[in-house]
Amino acid sequence: MSSPSAKIQDVFNEPACDKNRGKDAKARKEGCSKPLTPGAAAGGCAFDGAKIVLQPITDVAHLVHAPLACEGNSWDNRGAASSRATLWRTSFTTDLTELDVVMGQGERKLFKAIREIKETYAPPAVFVYSTCVTALIGDDIEAVCKRAEEKFGLAVVPINAPGLVGSKNLGNKLAGEALLDHVIGTVDPDDAGPYDINILGEFNLSGEFWLVKPLLDRLGIRVRACIPGDARYLDVASAHRARAAMMVCSTALINLARKMEERWDIPFFEGSFYGITDTSEALRNIAELLVRKGADPEILDRTETLIVEEEAIAWNKLQVYRRRLQGKRVLLNTGGVKSWSVVHALMEIGMEIVGTSVKKSTVEDKERIKQILKDDNHMFEQMAARDLYAMLSEHKADIMLSGGRTQFIALKAKTPWLDINQERQHPYAGYDGMVELVRQIDLALHNPIWRQVREPAPWDCQPAVKDEPPSTTSETATVHTLKKFAGKTADDFGEC
Ligand code: SF4
Repeated sequence: MSSPSAKIQDVFNEPACDKNRGKDAKARKEGCSKPLTPGAAAGGCAFDGAKIVLQPITDVAHLVHAPLACEGNSWDNRGAASSRATLWRTSFTTDLTELDVVMGQGERKLFKAIREIKETYAPPAVFVYSTCVTALIGDDIEAVCKRAEEKFGLAVVPINAPGLVGSKNLGNKLAGEALLDHVIGTVDPDDAGPYDINILGEFNLSGEFWLVKPLLDRLGIRVRACIPGDARYLDVASAHRARAAMMVCSTALINLARKMEERWDIPFFEGSFYGITDTSEALRNIAELLVRKGADPEILDRTETLIVEEEAIAWNKLQVYRRRLQGKRVLLNTGGVKSWSVVHALMEIGMEIVGTSVKKSTVEDKERIKQILKDDNHMFEQMAARDLYAMLSEHKADIMLSGGRTQFIALKAKTPWLDINQERQHPYAGYDGMVELVRQIDLALHNPIWRQVREPAPWDCQPAVKDEPPSTTSETATVHTLKKFAGKTADDFGEC
């Protein structure tokens, strides 16, 4: 088994990532994330990143070996949805105290916690997360997990991604490594078939993968494992028997996709389920990869038939919005796959993109944006809050689509805003998801509240009432104002 630092260097050296390949060997060793700025809102740590990727595996008990705060910070902060199991939403932590640290009780406490989980919940697996404190005091979670696995006859998986090793994105990748080392390939299914696929980096936020899965079901394509959205442990453990894979978020799990291709000959492509064209393209690519791996080529025709039907239905539903949204200007402050796939989706219905952030985008993502927008003037790496505010308050965009962190900039600039990041409430994937996204944009843009909040405040209005000077020098300003407006109705005042 490799040491954590060897594993981190391995993750930093990713041949399937163009950004990574563009660096020299020295820069590659330093990883992708810039050092965090002290005092800035830094985003999640590596532990948080690992937990984000693995927690949506729904029938697993996720046990955080740490003082209480680590679990408090990371628990359920994304809107992934489960169709059955609920155990993943139960919070498990060893709740390490100072006394436990001083007395060297960490490993013992961890072992007892695993036993308690096994006896109370009998899950198919326990994932044990190391964190800063338990890494610093040197608790050997791999040894404890191995011992517990032998003793309890239960899969106990160490997730070695303590916060101090780096960024959230590094934690995403270390989670993929843990699945490769301890989970995928450990169960051989007896029903593997030629139409089995994996979907990687799909989190089923707001249940949006459920808008796509029925399309695959209609084509007879089985999702052996969607990692991690709405996944179950056994699905993930048998994911090595899929014939092909689609990678939805490469920033998070490119290492997983590449290594699965190398180890088990599962070809993959990067695609998106956002937007009508991209959904159709993803379905086509899946069918083509399956045919390459031995599936009957008739699936290609069936896929085309389904695409024609579904696109017609979706465009029909979008007609009503096209008229209302044509030419409206959108500012996208998101990242990764959404920086191009949502751009493409919105341009399909005639909206204009005035800017899209590429801070978290890969070289390939940026290339795609350039192709879609035909230039790179609308891409920005990172926009300071002050500049975002200036842009919105000068009415250079009609709506901003972003995550919750920047919502108040838009609201302060009296500009409509829609959440398209992980905390969003509505599913936007697939054909139906695109209709829902457009419906939500329409609702946000045409909400009557904007007319109201943009009106001048009453105290800024110019009354059409003639202002007489105070009748006596002794009359106070307040008495004068009260006398001035006495007996007037709203009609006596001018336009605001
Ligand atoms: S793992 Fe470390 S950085 Fe992350 S929440 Fe815990 S203490 Fe904080």
